[in-house]
Amino acid sequence: MNKFVLSLCFLLSTYAFGTNFHYSTIKKESGSGSTLLVVGGIHGDEPGGYFAPMLLAKHYKIESGNLWIVPNLNFDSILKGARGINGDMNRKFAKIETKDKDFDIVTEIKKLILHPKVDLTLNLHDGQGFYRDKNIDKLFNQKAWGQATIIDQQQIPNAKYGNLAEIAKKVNKETNVDLLEDVHEFNLKDTDTRKQDKAMQQSLTYFSITNGKPAFAIETSKNMTELSQKVFYQLKTIEKFMNVMNIKFTRDFELEQMVVKKLIANYGTLEIPVTKITLDLSTLKSTIGFFPMNKDKLVYSSNNPLVAVIKDKDEYKVMNGNILVSRLKPDYNEFENSLSDITLQIDGKKSTVKVGTLISVKNSFLIEPINGHRINVIGYSKTGVGNESGIKIELKDLIKTYAIDKSETTYMVQFYKDKKFCGMLNIKFEDKK
Ligand SMILES: [Zn+2]
Repeated sequence: MNKFVLSLCFLLSTYAFGTNFHYSTIKKESGSGSTLLVVGGIHGDEPGGYFAPMLLAKHYKIESGNLWIVPNLNFDSILKGARGINGDMNRKFAKIETKDKDFDIVTEIKKLILHPKVDLTLNLHDGQGFYRDKNIDKLFNQKAWGQATIIDQQQIPNAKYGNLAEIAKKVNKETNVDLLEDVHEFNLKDTDTRKQDKAMQQSLTYFSITNGKPAFAIETSKNMTELSQKVFYQLKTIEKFMNVMNIKFTRDFELEQMVVKKLIANYGTLEIPVTKITLDLSTLKSTIGFFPMNKDKLVYSSNNPLVAVIKDKDEYKVMNGNILVSRLKPDYNEFENSLSDITLQIDGKKSTVKVGTLISVKNSFLIEPINGHRINVIGYSKTGVGNESGIKIELKDLIKTYAIDKSETTYMVQFYKDKKFCGMLNIKFEDKK
């Protein structure tokens, strides 16, 4: 468990403004055995393809073999919900010009695919319709891509896991055992890329194949409206591939659509070190004012690799993949780091806490005066001078629009020395129901 938590803590990002967002690589390794590389989000408008590997990163533990996860390959496009803001990234693997904006990402992922440790690569998509080997109607036909395991050719001679068709058939057969609906059955689609498909010759999987390394695309259907259904099938299929490769895993949830739905609804956390606060993104309000920010540099981390903070004109957009979580309206400050402990009264009881803590109170709180510091409770306006040192504050004293959560019970308490920001506490009033 520790190893797994650690790997997610490395998702600390520093962005100079205007630069692109880079994908994450999360390696879950047992040390020996085969290695599966899962690549999600090559197409930014196919959320099944990136929320599934996000859950792999957050909730799976590898007992034997190795799992490498790139949940967000085309991160800039994911954040815009667009297939490819610089054109179709999955048509850039045969040839790409150095001036192409996707050049670095495509070059780096090629290296990862060809890494000697990687035995097999999966490229995740949501595709149109439901693939069938005969033409039934507009949705179910040979041209559709959805609910299919895609291969470029039947096999790669002499390669480990080179029996592409055989493996795909086995995986599909197992995935098809308990479907949410019968029409969701997975089928094998062989694009016979070398002979028949010029477009697919430029794809990620064909690049891998032509380098003698097995690769498959997994396509769930865009015509299933629920994201949780797509993610459910992606995870199911990935698990079947891990079985084929003898990669042993555990997960901390039941793989059922409604459970997956709940996990997707958990947006994870956002830590902005300069504020010393960890925000729970699932509860965050759509707009938060007076949020302390450093004008020159944005540093943050999350336990969700799809989380990004984007500067957009005079505010910061907090994104979870293609979902806008919240807009932070910045209060630009200089920062001062010396304050570490705060003494306060929680419901009349004295207590000392670290700066950055989320404090639960029933009825009231009072921050004890701190020598040389000003205390600003955002949403409290009675004093007029903006210093709430030593004042007992109840929920009724606070203006709801300043709360930072949807239930309007959590408020920021900010500390200043002269004009410098020294950190904050969040105070949450417990639900009295
Ligand atoms: Zn796609």
